[in-house]
Amino acid sequence: MALVVQKYGGSSIGTPERILRVAQRVAETRRAGHDVVVVASAMGDTTDELLDLADRVSRVPGPRRELDMLLSSGERISNALLAIALTDLGVPACSLSGPQAGVFTTPEHGAARIVDVLPTRVRQELDRGQVVLVAGFQGLCKDTDDVTTLGRGGSDTTAVAIAGALRADVCEIYTDVDGVCTADPRVVPTARLLERVGYAEMLELAANGAKVLMPRSVEYARRHGVVLHVRSSFTDQPGTILADQEVEMEKTAITAIAHDRGTALLSVTGVPDDVLRPARVFRALADAGVEVDMPVHRASRGWVDLSCVVSRSAARTAVGALHAAADDIGFDAVACDQGVGKVSVVGAALTADVTATVYETFAALGVRIALFTTSELRLSALCGEDELDRSVRALHEVFELGAGDTGDQAVVYAGSGRGW
Ligand code: ADP
Ligand code: ASP
Ligand code: MG
Repeated sequence: MALVVQKYGGSSIGTPERILRVAQRVAETRRAGHDVVVVASAMGDTTDELLDLADRVSRVPGPRRELDMLLSSGERISNALLAIALTDLGVPACSLSGPQAGVFTTPEHGAARIVDVLPTRVRQELDRGQVVLVAGFQGLCKDTDDVTTLGRGGSDTTAVAIAGALRADVCEIYTDVDGVCTADPRVVPTARLLERVGYAEMLELAANGAKVLMPRSVEYARRHGVVLHVRSSFTDQPGTILADQEVEMEKTAITAIAHDRGTALLSVTGVPDDVLRPARVFRALADAGVEVDMPVHRASRGWVDLSCVVSRSAARTAVGALHAAADDIGFDAVACDQGVGKVSVVGAALTADVTATVYETFAALGVRIALFTTSELRLSALCGEDELDRSVRALHEVFELGAGDTGDQAVVYAGSGRGW
């Protein structure tokens, strides 16, 4: 008998019929003799719909505490419905909110991090023979005694954290595609399912737009040694295992292509080239909570031009923070281009030849690269957002990542592509 944590994403439980199908799958696992903890996301696009509702009752963004109270209700609905469906199937089940399940977080509403999981209640319910359903994406901050949410896609992290705390045998992430693929199968129809991916590469993919897993869930899984298994809730296909680097992985130089539409290119020009001022640019952004990617520092004739990529949702905050620090920094101008997208090649052997091939591929497409950086496992290019899809497809083809005629093509089973 194993202890299995199963996470179901929004599109897997988007309708009452799908909730019933998921309940059947959970019931089968339970009847096979396993202890089961389920972490479900909110149904379908519920989280976006709740955000839209908040926009309709207020001209300014609502207080973040209240937004968390609102958004966390989505996961409670779906988990309670699953518990009702399981009970009807003759499987004893009990749903718990994140705080009831002992998920404790930092205080930042909308972006809280899990600091501890005390699964006493979860264990009690398991010992009573129940399937336990835990509302994902939420927790309690002990200092403020308030409900928090973990950021979009946060149910993945809840599932991994619960699995870690319970020392579960496996954490299965059920979603609307076959597993982790060589590219987003919604953009690249020939994308191939990967049987195994290393944590480090998965982290790069997730952090660069492959939202099949929330980046923090991968980080957490690696740190706590949680075995992650990403699979489709619509089939019985084997899916993808996230493995340690020591475990033999698919031996290819390039693992996959990721893309991110939610980016903005921030440029700060005419910063005096002394030792202090460029540092103040990045300090202002960091203090405003803006994460930066692909930073580029170009010094010439006494002046420095700085560029970096920020998430589009943070663009206004970033520009505001720089203007607020304008006197300290002394720049000429700040510009923010929100019409850009990022494509990343992820793999273990990013040689000079790979860089040349990426440049040649963009050249053949006639696509201008606005920014280009490389790191150990990732090479990223920024281009116009409207050029993103064909750039991803071309790179996927040039590096021969596709399924070819093997019939290994990944299938998209549901969802709007908006999901997290
Ligand atoms: P869920 O609702 O199950 O959490 P998400 O929408 O958050 O699902 O994540 C699944 C989606 O991730 C897929 O439908 C797919 O469009 C997207 N995706 C992006 N990159 C990849 C990739 N490399 N492999 C698989 N799916 C990917
Ligand atoms: N419902 C939340 C979201 O849409 C959390 C999740 O789905 O993981 O982001
Ligand atoms: Mg998700």
